[in-house]
Amino acid sequence: MAKINAYTTTAPSGGIKYQQVDIKESPGNVSLKPLMTGICGTDRGIVRGSLSFAYDPEGYDFLVIGHESLCVVTDSSSPRFKKGDHVVPIVRRPGDCPNCRIGRPDNCSDGKKHEAGITGLHGFMRESFNEFDYNLVKVNDTDLGDVAVLTEPMKNVVKAFEVFDRVRSRFIFENVYSTFDGKNALIIGSGNEAFLYSFLAKDYGFNTHMINRHPIGMVPTDLCESFGVDFIDSSKEPDFPEDFKLDLIVDTSGDPEAIFRYLRKMSHNGVLILFGTNGKAPATPVSGEDIDFMVERNITIAGSVDAAEIHYLKALDYLSKWNRLHGGLMKKMITNVFQPGEVGLFTTKPEGEIKSVIKWN
Ligand code: NAP
Repeated sequence: MAKINAYTTTAPSGGIKYQQVDIKESPGNVSLKPLMTGICGTDRGIVRGSLSFAYDPEGYDFLVIGHESLCVVTDSSSPRFKKGDHVVPIVRRPGDCPNCRIGRPDNCSDGKKHEAGITGLHGFMRESFNEFDYNLVKVNDTDLGDVAVLTEPMKNVVKAFEVFDRVRSRFIFENVYSTFDGKNALIIGSGNEAFLYSFLAKDYGFNTHMINRHPIGMVPTDLCESFGVDFIDSSKEPDFPEDFKLDLIVDTSGDPEAIFRYLRKMSHNGVLILFGTNGKAPATPVSGEDIDFMVERNITIAGSVDAAEIHYLKALDYLSKWNRLHGGLMKKMITNVFQPGEVGLFTTKPEGEIKSVIKWN
């Protein structure tokens, strides 16, 4: 057992503490210290007690929270990593199902996988921990610096676009020039994941719109301008003209009302990716006409959760590319930096936040 300072919750009921806890030394051939850990909507959902799928590790009545992390290697007996390397730990750990066995625990088919900081495995918001080298991805681009803390949220986006690529292959989705020019993507929400989705949708060539029910701050506006993303404040602007059609919707809100509102703007062969989760969002009515609409238009609705090692590697490539192309702007994605011990950021989202992080000393 080791005594260690950590952010803990009790899953799934919620709450948050920064406290010294007794936990078993985590097994692994690489010792790590976190440099930065990010806070995402999932962490806040767990702390609010609105994500019923979260649970404590066996033998504990608490869960060390945190799954977005950039760490430095402090000791290693692995030939793959040396002291001083920067690494990102993989969140999901495989169970025994066929998908887990082929290295795709993100597609786990019996739910017996674990996720650090979420389901049955302690997370990364603690002073130090050990990992096996096969659970680590190395950050080779030293110019990335702090931006590498976005690898974990970005890997979700890469996986979701893999899902999009698979489902769109059932028909010709592209235009006559085999590109996405002229196609419209809508990203619902304006949190960290929504920004990363918008950037990748732009990379694909979509006219990309991001929507929320309130304005965004100056840094988010600069990011939208630099990437060419159109932000819509639905409290001020009418959503879209009558004849406007969406080809791809990615929801990061988990709000059924918003999802079904925009689903009704879908073009034929449109694809909706469900990504956001909010078990406490109110129900919304779905009519028979809505079902007819989806059937008649061949609309695909696909959920997408987590990602595999390959997506972490691709995520690092995208972050490096955007970091080069957009100068210092990617660093501005990290809008709020906190010290270990602060807990308010888990319950109250700071104004203008894209990504809040805890910087470990
Ligand atoms: P976040 O910052 O909380 O993002 C959610 C966004 O949705 C916020 O900008 C929120 O706006 C907006 N929103 C809520 N209701 C809306 C509505 N009716 N219309 C428009 N926008 C609305 O969280 P995140 O870190 O970016 O993550 C996004 C979501 O994905 C979260 O639900 C998280 O739990 C989930 N998630 C899923 C996976 C996965 O593998 N599927 C992985 C990570 C995260 P306000 O903040 O202004 O309310």
